[in-house]
Amino acid sequence: PFHKSKGQHILKNPLLIDTIIEKSGIKSTDIILEIGPGTGNLTKKLLEAGKSVIAVELDPRMVLELQRRFQGTAFSNRLKVIQGDVLKCDLPYFDICVANIPYQISSPLTFKLLAHRPLFRCAVIMFQREFAMRLVAKPGDTLYCRLSVNTQLLSRVSHLLKVGKNNFRPPPKVDSSVVRIEPRKPQPSVSFKEWDGLVRICFNRKNKTLGSIFRQKSVLSILEKNYKTLQALQLSQNGSLEDTEIAMDVSTLGDAGEELGMEIDDERDEEEMEVEEGDTRTSDFKDKVLGVLKQGGFEEKRSSKLSQEDFMYLLSVFNKVGIHFS
Ligand code: SAM
Repeated sequence: PFHKSKGQHILKNPLLIDTIIEKSGIKSTDIILEIGPGTGNLTKKLLEAGKSVIAVELDPRMVLELQRRFQGTAFSNRLKVIQGDVLKCDLPYFDICVANIPYQISSPLTFKLLAHRPLFRCAVIMFQREFAMRLVAKPGDTLYCRLSVNTQLLSRVSHLLKVGKNNFRPPPKVDSSVVRIEPRKPQPSVSFKEWDGLVRICFNRKNKTLGSIFRQKSVLSILEKNYKTLQALQLSQNGSLEDTEIAMDVSTLGDAGEELGMEIDDERDEEEMEVEEGDTRTSDFKDKVLGVLKQGGFEEKRSSKLSQEDFMYLLSVFNKVGIHFS
């Protein structure tokens, strides 16, 4: 009866559910958002702990089962079920999100929650173990990647609990972990698009030095094109850049493994072209870019070791000389 494609793995261990509830710090006044309630094992305990639960479920059969389960009980008027795809629907106000989600929506869901306003207090979510370890990875950890940097820009993340596959029916192929995501308040004042633009470039080859990444022809030419567009706009518009569409699209720089926020392995066969000396037009721009890296002491550094503060500083020095990433 369970749909693999919908990631239906039901939590069967009541003790584990109790632990999740306990660790999530639900208050009796909380409006709780649950994603993918399934048959309602977690939902029931959420209803006991909080003020009300709003549950978003894709599968109409599960929605029916859920409604049947709580019909005529004291819980029924504190549960609201929304049938639909959580990635496509407008989320209502909530204080806290607690969920055992289908793993295929991990990345878009995380960023949808972090983009939601007003900001919630925290989200306690079951993820595939590797995804969870990427979320919490720190500079220097093997799994440190664009996903880690972007999530940690917007939130504090911590690993709460390791969960083995046998706590689910049917058991999934991979182990899981429960993670706590607490949005930063206030949110950093940096433009997320621009931040992500820089981080994408840096993590495209996370074990290469920034010096060699920013010498790549593909990177330089896209940055230069963007730089020139901005310069032209500034001349014609008296420096007003508000609401200006920029031609560049950093996302074309390669993005395999998007779902897990993974970047391409450094051990690729093909060699990236670096700009040849004597290519004068790009050479001036290249000097400008490398000048920024040198000035900040970044030329020999690798993304795998850079902290949030490093990326923030790097972005600010690029911006200072008019180089932008979105
Ligand atoms: N919460 C239940 C539990 O712990 O026993 C079930 C969890 S199961 C891993 C994931 C649930 O999410 C399934 O009921 C599935 O139908 C639902 N689901 C899958 N994709 C969804 C989506 N895009 N939006 C909302 N629910 C979804």
